[in-house]
Amino acid sequence: MQSFNFGSAQSILPRSVLAAIFHDIAGWRDRGISLLELPFVHTDFADLLTQIETDLRALLALSQRHHILLLAGGATAQFGLLPMNLLGDKHRADYVETGYWSRRAMMAARPWCDVHRAAQGDGTFLPQIWHLSADAAYCHVTTNETADGLQFHELPDTGDVPLVADMTADFLTRPIPIEQFDLIYASAQKNLGIAGLTIVVLRDNLLNRAKPGVPAPFDYSAQAKAESKVNTPPTFAVAVTAKMLNWLRENGGLAAIGARNARKSARLYAEIDADEFYQSHVRAADRSLVSVCFHLPDSRLDAMFLAKAEANGFFQLHGHPSVGGIRASLYNAVSEEAVDALASFMADFRDRHG
Ligand SMILES: *Cc1c(COP(=O)(O)O)cnc(C)c1O
Repeated sequence: MQSFNFGSAQSILPRSVLAAIFHDIAGWRDRGISLLELPFVHTDFADLLTQIETDLRALLALSQRHHILLLAGGATAQFGLLPMNLLGDKHRADYVETGYWSRRAMMAARPWCDVHRAAQGDGTFLPQIWHLSADAAYCHVTTNETADGLQFHELPDTGDVPLVADMTADFLTRPIPIEQFDLIYASAQKNLGIAGLTIVVLRDNLLNRAKPGVPAPFDYSAQAKAESKVNTPPTFAVAVTAKMLNWLRENGGLAAIGARNARKSARLYAEIDADEFYQSHVRAADRSLVSVCFHLPDSRLDAMFLAKAEANGFFQLHGHPSVGGIRASLYNAVSEEAVDALASFMADFRDRHG
């Protein structure tokens, strides 16, 4: 039986990327070492960093004003590091609360600054009207609410207030209007590899604002100056990301992957919208193309759906604990074939139990 994984916390990796990693672990470029033994001061590691930089600059059309930082600690570490690095002489930051992850980001900023909630949703829609503070150091948004199943498809203009985005779940899943953002950050394990690496892309206007005493590995300016080598970066995770970027390029870049991801989610939402059996709690215009959340008429059927799905080879479809129900995470590496198979399973389950 074929099996398919729709997990949200760690994406599957393309089989070709896994094969290349196995190869490099067994022996790295005839150097007599494994990839796992590659030191960060080696010229081969410098090559990997250069490849990541070149690929990201091309994919995102970055200007010379943009810096790319490869940091440890995950998006959650960034929640606290943003105010530590970005406040400068300001005291206030705006947050748009749209669901579970933006709430986490907001709460982590509270010890460091006056957090102003510029808009609030309840996890079922994206608020349209924002009340921005003129004196905010930045405005924070979460472009994809992974637990709730919401995604911004357009972002309001924040004027002179720098726009900062947690893009962990949808980074590189579609073309990004980079000029709108002053800083974006993403943990690698969702669309770009494995846990341990966080990518931060920021414009130079946000450098040199860190509070005194921020540890150097977490100081954006220090890391920008040191090309992310203040200390030992997570070398293996960096190598996996280099391979994922290569895979993304070979698969046509962001326009092609964006079109493919749109087809994937449309396939599932068509099944959800076919009748009242599957229900989505999210306003149609704000639905996520990455985190497709739905539920069945009652929690007994949710549980039966999950059990039958597993028995048929569809794994990790349970919703986030804060929301419940079902969630299919359609990260870049999830194939159209896997989504087609899941849609057929959903149709079949409805025929039997609807
Ligand atoms: C997964 C996720 C996180 C958490 O990332 P960590 O690497 O575990 O810190 C944060 N924000 C969003 C939007 C996510 O999807």
